[in-house]
Amino acid sequence: MARLVLKFGGTSVADIDRIRNVARHVKREVDAGHDVAVVVSAMAGKTNELVGWCREASPLHDAREYDAVVASGEQVTAGLLAIVLQAMGVNARSWLGWQIPLKTDDAHGVARIGDIDGSDIIRRFEEKQVAVVAGFQGIAPDNRIATLGRGGSDTSAVALAAALQADRCDIYTDVDGVYTTDPRIAPKARRMNKIAFEEMLEMASLGAKVLQVRSVELAMVHKVRTFVRSSFDDPDAPEMSDFDNPPGTLICDEEEIVEQEVVSGIAYSKDEAQISLRRVADRPGVAAAIFGPLADAGVNVDMIVQNISESGEATDMTFTVPSADLAKAVDVLEKTKAETGYDAIQSEAGLTKVSVIGIGMRSHTGVAATAFKELAKIPVNIRAITTSEIKISILIDSDFTELAVRRLHSVYGLDKV
Ligand code: ADP
Ligand code: ASP
Ligand code: MG
Repeated sequence: MARLVLKFGGTSVADIDRIRNVARHVKREVDAGHDVAVVVSAMAGKTNELVGWCREASPLHDAREYDAVVASGEQVTAGLLAIVLQAMGVNARSWLGWQIPLKTDDAHGVARIGDIDGSDIIRRFEEKQVAVVAGFQGIAPDNRIATLGRGGSDTSAVALAAALQADRCDIYTDVDGVYTTDPRIAPKARRMNKIAFEEMLEMASLGAKVLQVRSVELAMVHKVRTFVRSSFDDPDAPEMSDFDNPPGTLICDEEEIVEQEVVSGIAYSKDEAQISLRRVADRPGVAAAIFGPLADAGVNVDMIVQNISESGEATDMTFTVPSADLAKAVDVLEKTKAETGYDAIQSEAGLTKVSVIGIGMRSHTGVAATAFKELAKIPVNIRAITTSEIKISILIDSDFTELAVRRLHSVYGLDKV
């Protein structure tokens, strides 16, 4: 007997029929004698609708009330799944974040989990009760509902698995594992049996939305054995009950991976915007004067390119921000112009960051040059580049996203044969 946390995403609970299918997965594990806690997302499209309603009600809305609205999607699915499980003869009870309680910090809308008291859920395992937990939500220090940022149910699940000391956390979604790139845009993407925590962290933070970044961090820190697998697989197929090797992708330590590729995946993130400040004074303190106020305004600056000035007096500074933050960023920069003293701002939205990721890059040269040559063949113009030990990120025009992802996927030998 083991203890499992199963998480089901929006597409997996999109309607009552799919919730019934989810319940069959849950029942299989209960019948096998395991203690089971389930984490559910809102039905597909529901959170987008709720966010849209908040914006329509008022573009500048109170973050606490936004949380009150958007957390409701998960409440519905938790209740519905508990009802369906009960109808199937499974002892089940729904839980909202505050009822557990799952405590968060006070960053409404993007809250981080602090502490989870799993004692009540564990006690009820003795009565073979299944906990059906509303993902994406918790309770903030001000006693109000807080949500964990988009895609946050993954994080709810991994954090709950850590708190309950579960043997495994299964993230059920609409694909049967983590692929070498998004299978929706690259039909030749391959499913990986295993991926290292560090690579998954990069994939997630560079745009692969199959797992929320924070969930990967928590799995890595708390050593939660996490699988990504499909809710659309037949719940009663014999391989579904393989405890050590269920069908899907295991997120694990690097040491567990026998054959490490140089490049293991390609990620992309659309909706990037580029800002260039022309003729910024070339003196100490200027970067701080530019990026300090942007950070204070909550703008997430990513790639930064600063040219060497010809005269030693002024230089150009180029950086990227999410498209959604472009207007805010330009506003901040205009207000702080006196301190930064640039000549002009130029900005452009509609860009994509394509990233090549692989732990093997640490010990191989020429990986970046291969990407540049391949993009030149398309041809697609490179606007900015950043690298780290295990990734190369390249900024391009969004029109080339699919093509660039597929070509990079092929050139690094990732295509399925
Ligand atoms: P859920 O609603 O179950 O949380 P998401 O839509 O958040 O599901 O995440 C699953 C989606 O992530 C897939 O449908 C797929 O299009 C996308 N995705 C992006 N990159 C990858 C990747 N490398 N491997 C698998 N899926 C990916
Ligand atoms: N329903 C939330 C969202 O769409 C949380 C999640 O699905 O993980 O972002
Ligand atoms: Mg998700």
